[in-house]
This record gives sequence, C-alpha cells and structure tokens, in this order.
Amino acid sequence: MTTRKTLRSLPRMLITERGRVAPFSNAFGGFALSLIFYGAVLGSVATAEAAPYQKRRSAQKKPVVAQKRNPVSTQLPLDASVWALFKDPARGPAQSIGSASAGCVQGAESLSPDGPGYQVMRLSRGRFYGHPTLIAYLQKLGAALEKEKAGPMLVGDLGLPRGGWMKSGHASHQTGIDVDIWYWVPDSAKERSLTLREREVTSAKSLVPVKYSPKIETRWWKAETEKLIQLAAGFSEVDRIFVNAAIKKELCRKYESDIKEVAWLRKLRPWYAHDDHLHVRLVCPADSPDCKKQDPIPAGSGCDSSLDWWFTQDARDEALKNAQLAALRKDPPPIAEGCERLLSELVPASMSPEL
Ligand SMILES: [Zn+2]
Repeated sequence: MTTRKTLRSLPRMLITERGRVAPFSNAFGGFALSLIFYGAVLGSVATAEAAPYQKRRSAQKKPVVAQKRNPVSTQLPLDASVWALFKDPARGPAQSIGSASAGCVQGAESLSPDGPGYQVMRLSRGRFYGHPTLIAYLQKLGAALEKEKAGPMLVGDLGLPRGGWMKSGHASHQTGIDVDIWYWVPDSAKERSLTLREREVTSAKSLVPVKYSPKIETRWWKAETEKLIQLAAGFSEVDRIFVNAAIKKELCRKYESDIKEVAWLRKLRPWYAHDDHLHVRLVCPADSPDCKKQDPIPAGSGCDSSLDWWFTQDARDEALKNAQLAALRKDPPPIAEGCERLLSELVPASMSPEL
C-alpha cells in the first residue's frame, strides 16, 4: 500500500530513479549531450496549444565525439530532450524565461504528489516542477476545491525541473507556468490517495468523445467538473485556460447570459484536443522580466461565432495541416534565448559554442 507519507517523499526518490541518466550525467554528460544535439533520434511531437517553433537547427555538422559508439548512449531515455537530462532545478532566483513553447525556468519548485484537494498523476515522468507561482496556484486551487467539497483534482504535467522542451506530449509547458488538470476524477480518488500504479495506468476520460462535435459526454460531466473549471479560471494569476470548444460551448450555454460570469468564461480559450484535460497558463510572474507575454485575449466572453468555427470543416483542415507540418520536423527546437546558461553545467567547454 502506498501511504501518504511515502508519496510525500517521492519527488526525491523519483529524481534518483530518473537518474538512470544521473550516473552518467557527469562522466558522460558531454557525450550524451552531443548525441542529443547531433543525433537523429529526436523528433517532435507538437500539440496545437502553442505556436510550433519556426526555426530549424542549423549547422548540423557532427563533432568527432558523436561518431564514437558508447554503450552508455543506449541508456538514454528514448523520449529525452536535452532538458530531460537535468534532475534538479536550476539554482538562482525563480524566473520564467522565454515563451511557453520556447523557454525554460530557473529556481523551479516541485509540487508534492499529494496535498489538500489534489493528487499528481504520472509521477514517473518527473514533470511536476514549475515556477513557485504555479506551485502556489495549484495549492490554492486544491484548497478551494476541498473547501467547496469538489475535490480532489488530478494534476497532470507541469514541466521538467528546468522547464524546456519535452519530446512527448507538449509543445509548450516550457517556462514553468503551464499545467494540465484532468476533468474526470475516479471515485476512488475521492476516498483515498491513489497508488503509484493507479497514477500511472489510469487514463483520463474524454468529455468530447466525438472529435469536433459540440456535444459533451454527460456521463463524465459532474457538478465538480464545472466547479473545477470555474475556480481554476477565477484566480487573477491565470492568463488563460485551454479547453475543448465543446466544453466552452457547454459553459457558454449555461452562463453567458449572466454578465457576472464573463470574467472567467473569457479566460477559457477553445483549442484542439483538451477534451480530457484543461490546460492552465499563468500570466508571466512579476519576477520574470524575460518571460514573453502572449497577446491579450480578445474582449468579451468568447461565446460568439468565433467559437462555432471550431466545429467546422475549416477547423478540421487546419488541424490536418498542423499535423502534417509537425510530422515534417526532425530536430528538436533551438534552445531559447536566455536559456543556454541553464544547460551549461552539463556541457563541456568545447561544446558550449555549439549551443
Ligand atoms: Zn497542456
């Protein structure tokens, strides 16, 4: 059985376990890194929730060291980006740097696997780090849910210890101010802390099983789901929340006529997928002058004809185009400006100019 105490001590344990890369991160880090940078194994899985990177890495000349065969290289996780090699946050004052889809975070903190009103899923991914503002936000949201008897919420990915690009699952979540939260919560999670295994194997349920349909799956739509979305959007540090268009449509139908509700409805932005989780993005933290702000969201509730576009053939065509573009990408995105220094510990001097 997994006790709450055991779970609380988990981040460190996981960090060590993730250290499949740790034993060689010092001795072989340079080599591993050179493979990461110059090897051909890394592709890209882009989600549409943030602008895909535009530039391709140039100058793909391979240094001599990358030609050597070393058995250690086979131990690199297949889904590793260079950012996944780091097991600890970058030291220094907390700071989000760059944009959600090209950035990093210094001084990140980890979210405990359990807390009042929340439980963190998929702990083995080690993606439970974020800017302290994000950690505090999730703790406040969990407490608010508990107070309303609408918890717990199941928290999905935040980001890696230093943020940055992840090969699987996200194009964004790079600056420590993004987090995914499941809509659906199994009854067992309301009674007890889920076991480690349950957190790995339980799948999120889709509230919109038919793609591009405006209909939601009412079986999984509970009063708690609605409360979660309302509360999540209600905090001033939230910039926007990506949800499936059908979910926004459902909430518009219920609340648009009430002018008081527009403030949180407005923050809900329709986007592709997001049918089994909402994606919260915070505003750039006050301590982060190099955090790139997104364009402000348009005025109004967003419950207008722009919402209906998401159910049209045009929306499908656009999705297809984006998927085709993503499939063409072979290289990881370039390191964002201002983020090189967060990688410098692992990079031998001879390699650093290449960054
Ligand atoms: Zn997300």
